Amino acid sequence: MATGKAPQTSETRKAGFKGNKSFLPSKPCASCGLPMTWRKRWAKTWDEVRYCSDACRRTGPKAP
Ligand SMILES: [Zn+2]
Repeated sequence: MATGKAPQTSETRKAGFKGNKSFLPSKPCASCGLPMTWRKRWAKTWDEVRYCSDACRRTGPKAP
């Protein structure tokens, strides 16, 4: 009595954020180059954020 088939467990685990609080995106400031870590106030504008502070925003991108 051999049943050759074993039930396949299709477990699709997504590599998501859940339970991974320590991970926050970060990117370098376009002016001073210091890494800035994601902040809640940047949640909606993170893609547009380039400078870590108003001072850097005024200074603008690093001169070549
Ligand atoms: Zn900066």
